[in-house]
Amino acid sequence: MARSGPGQIAPEVPVGSPRPAEPADAAEAAGGAAEAGRALPPSLDNAAVERGFRFYTTLICVVAVACVVAVSVWLPFEFTSATIWIVLGLLAAFAFAERCAINIDVRSGVSWSISFTEVPLVIGLVVADFEVVLVAHLIAGVGTLAGRKLSGRLPYNAGVMALEICAAFAVAHMVKELLAAGDIPWIAAFLGALSAPTTSTFLALITVWVLRKPMQLATGLRFMARVIVVGFVNASVGVSGYLVITHVEHGWALIGVVAAALAALYWAYSGLLREQRDLEALSDVSLMVSRSGKQVTVRPGGDGDEFEREFAAGDWIALAERIKDQLAARRVVLRFRLDGADSMHTVVAGEPLPSSGGLRPGDPMLRLHGSHARRFSSTEAGAEVSEALRLRGVEELLVVPLRSGSQLLGLIEAHDRRSRWRGFGKSDVQLIGMMAAHLATALDNRRLMATLRHDAYHDPLTGLLNRPGFAQAARVPLAAGEPTVVVRVELDEFSTVCDALGYAWADRMVVIAGRRLRDVLGGSVPAARLEGASFAVLVNCEQGEARDAAERIRAELSVPYPIDRLTVEASALVGYASSEVEDSATRMDIDGLLQRADVAVRAITNADEVRGYVPSMGQIFMRRFQLVTQFRQALEAGQVSVHYQPKISLERKTVLGVEALVRWNHPEFGKVHPDEFVPAIEAAGLIGALTSFVLDAALVRVRKWLDEGLRISAAVNLSVRSLADADFPSQVVAALRHHNVPPELLTFELTESGVMADPERALPILRELHNLGVVLAVDDFGTGYSSLAYLRQLPVDEVKIDKSFVFGMGTDLGDLAVVRSIVELGHSLGLTVVAEGVEEDLARDQLEAMGCDVAQGYLISRPLSEKRLEAWLQARTARAMGRKAETVLTLLT
Ligand code: C2E
Ligand code: CA
Ligand code: CA
Repeated sequence: MARSGPGQIAPEVPVGSPRPAEPADAAEAAGGAAEAGRALPPSLDNAAVERGFRFYTTLICVVAVACVVAVSVWLPFEFTSATIWIVLGLLAAFAFAERCAINIDVRSGVSWSISFTEVPLVIGLVVADFEVVLVAHLIAGVGTLAGRKLSGRLPYNAGVMALEICAAFAVAHMVKELLAAGDIPWIAAFLGALSAPTTSTFLALITVWVLRKPMQLATGLRFMARVIVVGFVNASVGVSGYLVITHVEHGWALIGVVAAALAALYWAYSGLLREQRDLEALSDVSLMVSRSGKQVTVRPGGDGDEFEREFAAGDWIALAERIKDQLAARRVVLRFRLDGADSMHTVVAGEPLPSSGGLRPGDPMLRLHGSHARRFSSTEAGAEVSEALRLRGVEELLVVPLRSGSQLLGLIEAHDRRSRWRGFGKSDVQLIGMMAAHLATALDNRRLMATLRHDAYHDPLTGLLNRPGFAQAARVPLAAGEPTVVVRVELDEFSTVCDALGYAWADRMVVIAGRRLRDVLGGSVPAARLEGASFAVLVNCEQGEARDAAERIRAELSVPYPIDRLTVEASALVGYASSEVEDSATRMDIDGLLQRADVAVRAITNADEVRGYVPSMGQIFMRRFQLVTQFRQALEAGQVSVHYQPKISLERKTVLGVEALVRWNHPEFGKVHPDEFVPAIEAAGLIGALTSFVLDAALVRVRKWLDEGLRISAAVNLSVRSLADADFPSQVVAALRHHNVPPELLTFELTESGVMADPERALPILRELHNLGVVLAVDDFGTGYSSLAYLRQLPVDEVKIDKSFVFGMGTDLGDLAVVRSIVELGHSLGLTVVAEGVEEDLARDQLEAMGCDVAQGYLISRPLSEKRLEAWLQARTARAMGRKAETVLTLLT
């Protein structure tokens, strides 16, 4: 009621008449605000303030008793038969004057009340004894306070009232003695009446100080001035009225007319002000309401927690406070359900609700129809409503249901009007109705916002968080420096399921995985689906516990997935990274953690283990990153070259061709192995540049040999990506034409898994290449899907047995059997069979005995630079000159 700004409580200071109740009001308002979360200055100790106020009250009461005794001794008291009537008359007049007090808002939040108690006081001073006026005023004042349920500060207020009357009589009689008058002259009565409000206001200002409410000196002085002005007006009206009534015939009628006119003016004025104030309040409420929906915070626990944060932000409390202030209610209760929740939140402004005041399921307020405001009072209501009022501890209740369509979103209740005798009026009902309409719209908007927000931060398929949602959830613990671990989970084989069974099935697998993830961790742990079958979890714990959590996730997500009548086997690759970085002052952000956890996943070599990130992994990652970013430059700078490894015919011992193998001589890292940089470049989408570089170099080489009269073919390794590029065949055509090389001298080596990754896209491209006359070879045969049936359908000419089988041939019968069956299978399909990784004589002999066609390996030669290859060819071959077309190089080993 008396808030003048955020955190500042300006007490409502009495103006115009002895209104000692007001400082107490101010104290209560301040107390209420403090409960509502608007804290008083932090140094303020409420208990100490309360003690101070009690001491001050005692002091006032003691002084008041002393003054009453002194004044009664000083001024003689005569009891006559008229005394009773005078007491009753004055009592009625004081009570009426109190009741007619008008609250006028000076500006929003600061009001002052004008009452007319100086009028009966003036008359009392003239016609009655001190004790009579004192009794009448005390009874009327205390009765008023009790009626307004402000009995808490009664001793203070009674003391102030007694002091006012003492001051009035003392001043009036001193003036009378100064003027040496017999009766009390009007000037004495006037000054006496004026001294009463001056006294009470002075005491009120001390109260403000005792209660330690911030108030500027200028404001205090302004209040003082107003009190004197209004007191002056009231006292003059009282004196003039008295003089007119006593000296003019039928003067009371004239006074009656003037009083009625003045009262009408007052009411009109206050009505006008009130309307303006109501409009102001309405716009305040709309603003507050629209602001309340703007905070976006996702907390792990979901929407409930999210609300708690906003709740703490105090918007709703401020809103309830504003409504309470505007209605001058003792208490305002907002109850509302947020974002489709079942339970209602309750916000109370003003006096706390009694323990019985909670909303019960059978509460009649919940069954109100429509969405208009209603007023109930204990005297007029039926039994059920009376009981509801009693439970809330109120006499009078304004209530409006908040609805969206037919759904009940909440309730606003205003309890008991304070500050005035009269209860809630029509305009209050209207006002609360309008405020409720705004609030209902806002709650509705909020619900919409919440849905949008939820969608923006969640993955629709699994209901888990999405990447932005995950980042949000991580922000708070990371900013607080709590130990946080990000666990990443990748479902292996997911892309296979996509390819083999289609996306609908793959989606079902993801949904199951998401559910399992939640089951393992419980709903309160933030879990996200980042993309495809890649998940992330935020665990609030130390490294050790994180490992446990990661292990549990791995175990749970590696259980086969039942989808319809199939069971899909999948293993979960789980890696994690902790925000606690050794020897580093830098705080990890969520992207960094996700990346590190990803690096840990990539470092997994055995699907049965989980890996925690260690900095050495980061270095590998950094290095890979550098390789990818530097690759194009490296091509231009000549750091990348092509080496050639000869392939020989096992039967004829002649060199048939070479395999082109890329080499990178990095200025910083030295020789970088293709197994390291090729996959990275492939993943970064740069493989096209590498392939055309190698293809070009190989064709240049073949062309040179052709010019020298040698027919040596070159094999170029292809990546999966090249097989997904529809333009690739035309690039090959252009290259062959440019170097004028016949297509049969070019071989492309592709891995089984490369073809199998996306056979629908790869097959047409392979057919096109095959139709060009280029030789196609399946590399690393035996390691991937080993889909022999597929091999039949592929347009290939050659299989290369993977070197791992060739290495093992001499010692492992199993490997020997594999090699033999591949040779046989290849021949039965009419393919040339190549063995790579031939390192020993034994292997070469075995292969030869099996009928394998071509051998490649360190036994024959390591991959050689162009120059050394030339030397190798010259040293180890006899050149049959002159046989241009079919020059044969015979191996001399
Ligand atoms: P790959 O296609 O299987 O190449 C054969 C690899 O086996 C080569 O390793 C070669 O040096 C090695 N090798 C050959 N004979 C022997 C042997 O007797 N013993 C042993 N221990 N190793 C032998 P390199 O050159 O390191 O290449 C590794 C992989 O990098 C290649 O495997 C290939 O997949 C890839 N790669 C190399 N160059 C290119 C390229 O230009 N394009 C693409 N897409 N991939 C390439
Ligand atoms: Ca190869
Ligand atoms: Ca190979």
